[in-house]
Parts: sequence; structure tokens; C-alpha cells
Amino acid sequence: MTRLITGADVFVEGRLRPLDVVIDGEHIAGLVNRGTGPSDAEVIDGTGRIAIPGGVDVHVHTREPGYTHKEDLITCTRQAAAGGYTTIFGMPNLDPPTMTTDDLDAVLDLYAAKSIVDYNHNPAAKLLDQISPMAEQGIAAYKIYMVVDTGRSYPHPAAIGVHDHGDLYQAMQAVAETGLRLMVHPHDQAIMDVVEQAYWAAGDRSPQAYGKTLAVGDGIIWDTATALLIRLAEATGCKLHIVHVQTTRQIEMLRQARAKGIDVTGEVNHWALFLGRMSDIDEQGSYVLSYYVPDHHREAVWAAMEEGVVDMLSSDHAPHTREEKEIGWTDAWAAHTGTPGIQYQLPLMIDAMHQGRISLPRLVDLVATAPARVFGLDRKGTLAPGSDADIVLVDTEREWTITNDSVLSKIGWTPYDGRTIRGAVDRTLVRGTDVWVDGEVVGEPGHGKHATPTRER
Ligand SMILES: [Zn+2]
Repeated sequence: MTRLITGADVFVEGRLRPLDVVIDGEHIAGLVNRGTGPSDAEVIDGTGRIAIPGGVDVHVHTREPGYTHKEDLITCTRQAAAGGYTTIFGMPNLDPPTMTTDDLDAVLDLYAAKSIVDYNHNPAAKLLDQISPMAEQGIAAYKIYMVVDTGRSYPHPAAIGVHDHGDLYQAMQAVAETGLRLMVHPHDQAIMDVVEQAYWAAGDRSPQAYGKTLAVGDGIIWDTATALLIRLAEATGCKLHIVHVQTTRQIEMLRQARAKGIDVTGEVNHWALFLGRMSDIDEQGSYVLSYYVPDHHREAVWAAMEEGVVDMLSSDHAPHTREEKEIGWTDAWAAHTGTPGIQYQLPLMIDAMHQGRISLPRLVDLVATAPARVFGLDRKGTLAPGSDADIVLVDTEREWTITNDSVLSKIGWTPYDGRTIRGAVDRTLVRGTDVWVDGEVVGEPGHGKHATPTRER
């Protein structure tokens, strides 16, 4: 079937152009001058919209299997479709945690049956003898959590935590041999342990105390871990991806590592940009924790995104129920941490563009082009002939208010409830097929395909 997107300004080679997009089946067949597309094509009217490549979100907590009271692969990928994400990578903190070839097989089967958008999955690089075999199953990356929760058993269970330096060194050696990239949640567990003990001894388990614990010493818990990881990457040749970039020193470390030729990439998550102020924590408590990001760090993160030191924006979409958050008012260490975001991250970024925080070329690169490039998905992330027809039509001017009622997750809440923003996703296509049109999810579970790296490693 041939489809034709007409009238939109199409983001091609770094800028918007008045072109029509010809879609042949699952692929983009051509970008042609307005009105010169095939006359027998099914027309999609993109007048007044911009067309950008579908987002590639490499950091999504789908919760299935194991935590489907929070979310499942259908509700998760419905939100992806609504939010302009056409490919997601799931994370391994599931039950069972994804650590073996069998675990990975089982998870990939679930996606194949349920996912509305294209997908991959990042297994934990925890069991050394499983690392190399899992590379043969079409994954694009591995994940390591340097954090293990205290006071709760989720979302960072001990089963997949790795923070011993020797263990990290061996895991990175093993991942280096696969040629794939290792995503790491940087965290200095030893410093966290002593700092939180001090708050607990004083009887303070508030959300504010939790935020200040994580941000202690202007960010040493993240900074020391990031420095260690970059040094280990240099020593082992392991390609490294730092998740949760949120401090000035992490940004400087990324810059310096690249200058030395160390292959390290970094991602920012929505909560570091749009939440995470102490005033947010005062108002919403554990609902916005993730982390406390002091203002000078947030400003540096925005600048690093525009400059390109930060490579990509991932949602770190992390749904939890109200009950799992409410307990945080009395004991923030017992509340499950993380914030949902995949449904609203792209519109929030468009709004930020209007406010001069980010340019459109950098926005598209952060959300789509860079993650596809870094993780080897050569048919994703750009609008070009031969690419998958993963296309998002954005109304950059529409003003609307995010509400809990609009949430497509099982949890029924968003930390952005009540925010009025300018910029909305009108339509999302995954390989030429509509999955979101004018406020309705129209994609079918099972439409998503395994997006395997196409590049030689
Ligand atoms: Zn995460």
C-alpha cells in the first residue's frame, strides 16, 4: 500500500522542508516536492504540522513480566504511541529479572505478542556466562544497575545490582567482547549508605531527606560512579552509556572522555528537566522522585543537550501505583522510585523549544536520530528513503493541559497533571501503520517488531 503525507514541513537533514513523504508499505519510498507524489496513494493531510522521525526511547520500564499491577507491555506501548515513540527498549528489572538467554527469550516473546511499537530489550549484564550468548539474540545493549535499594525491594533489586569494582571490571570485559554497548545506572552505594544512615539516625525519612541524600556533596553519588565507569571503559574497551546524566561534573567527564577517544555516550531523562526541583518534592513528594536535581545542574544539563555533550533523551519511564508512592510521605525510602513519562516527554520538549531551551535540530537528534545511531538501528531515527516509515506528525502550536485523565498507563496519574504546554503529537506511524491518530490509540498489540541492530558490531 502506498501512503502520502502531504502539506507537512518535513524534518530532513537537519531542517524543516516543504516536502511530501511517500510511504511504500513499511518504508519511506521518497521525499518529493509538494504535490508531486503518486496520485493513487492514500493521503494523510499533514497541513500545519511538522513531520519528524519517530522517537527511539532506549530506557523504558515496561513492568512486564512481574509487575503488571503497575503497567504491562500493552499499556506501556500505548503510551509510547501517544507520545510519539515508535521504538522502545525495555529494562531488565522485571520478575524474573532478565539475566539469561531463557529470560530474554521469554521477554521477547511477550513483546512480539503485545507491543504496539517496535522494541528491543536490555538484559542485565550480571551473569558472566550469559553475556556473550545473549548478544546472539538481537539485543542492542546491556544494562547494569550500580544501585541496590535499601528499605524496599523494588525497583532496584539486589539480584541484578552490581557495584563491586571487580565485578564491574569483569562484566565490562565480557560486554566489550560482544561489541555491544553497556548502559549503566551510575551510583556510589557506599556513600549512599553512610549518608542515608545519618538522616535515619536523626529520624528524617522525608522525601526532602531522600532527595538531599541522593544529591549530597553536589552530586558525588553519581560523579564518583561515573568517573569509575569511564576509567573502566577506557581499560576494557567496553562501549559505555551513562544513564541519568544530571550533574555538571558528569557532563565535564563525558566531554573529557570523548576528547580522549573513549566511547562513552550519555542520556538525560525527563524528570531531570521538568521535575526534580525541591519545590516539586515539597508539593508532590515521592511522586516526583526519581531525584532531586539542583537548579545549577539542570541548567548545565540543558546546555549540554544543546551542545551535544549529552547524546540523547530517554524517558526512564517508571510507573508505580499511587499506593507505592503515597507511603513516601512518611518513609521516602519505602516508596518505589521513578516517574512515568513516555506519554508526555516529547510534547514537553516541544514546549521547551518554544521557550528557547532547545533547538528543533537538537531535539530531533536527542529523541530519535542519536539513539538509533548509537544503538545501531540504521533504519530508524531519520526520515530518508529506505528508512522505516516511523513518522510523527506534531502540532507545534496547539496548547493543551496535561491531566491525570489523559494518562494511558494503568497507574492513572502523572506528575505533570495540570501543566499547560504548547505542542502535541497528532499522529504516530510505526513502519507505515497508524498507531495513534488525533487522540486515539489505533495500533494493535503485536504490530511491534523486534528492532535488531542492523550494523555490524
Ligand atoms: Zn531506569
